[in-house]
Amino acid sequence: MSTAESHRPLTIVISGAGGAGKGAIVDSLLKRDPGLWLSRSWTTRPRRRGESPDAYRFVTPEEFEEKLRSGGFLEWNQFFEHRYGTPRPEVPEGRDVVLEIDVQGAIQVRGVDPEAAVILVLPPSREEQRRRMAHRGDDDVHIAKRLAKSDAEESLGMELADLVVVNDDLDRAVTEVQEFIEDLRERRRHGADREG
Ligand code: 5GP
Repeated sequence: MSTAESHRPLTIVISGAGGAGKGAIVDSLLKRDPGLWLSRSWTTRPRRRGESPDAYRFVTPEEFEEKLRSGGFLEWNQFFEHRYGTPRPEVPEGRDVVLEIDVQGAIQVRGVDPEAAVILVLPPSREEQRRRMAHRGDDDVHIAKRLAKSDAEESLGMELADLVVVNDDLDRAVTEVQEFIEDLRERRRHGADREG
């Protein structure tokens, strides 16, 4: 591995509406590819019942505000009543970073890093999306609000995305994402070769 390659981690943003299935894609992707490193977001949302304590860094609104004021977020967004943010990533040497964030966040990341790759995950249907949100315990009012927001999020995401993946078959969707990441790495290798 050349020096140029080892010092330039890829930023891979996996985005999409709630219930699209981005979490399932990310979980499986990380198991398949040890070269990836997942950034853990901060949120002011309380932990859901049954949700892993590691799913986010769960913080108070004051803690979030303090981090924000000190310039500690790469991007952040207010999503309904809670805030979510990506801390400025400290990517372990030799790994590529994955961000699992909403479309507004993806737009911000692209703004600060034009080379960031954006992958938009789409649910197979609104009904399946609704079922997935209900399955993880979201209440009906919350589900309705998120579904109502999905069309707008997806059309913004379509304009931004380098790859659009429909999550109807998880294995196939993950393979598509993996192949896309391998292409990016291949391009980086060529870039590094050209730089000498
Ligand atoms: P949830 O409450 O369902 O875990 O997340 C709500 C939305 O916020 C999801 O679309 C999720 O991907 C997004 N999200 C999670 N972390 C971040 C983050 O750090 N930044 C942004 N912009 N969105 C995030």
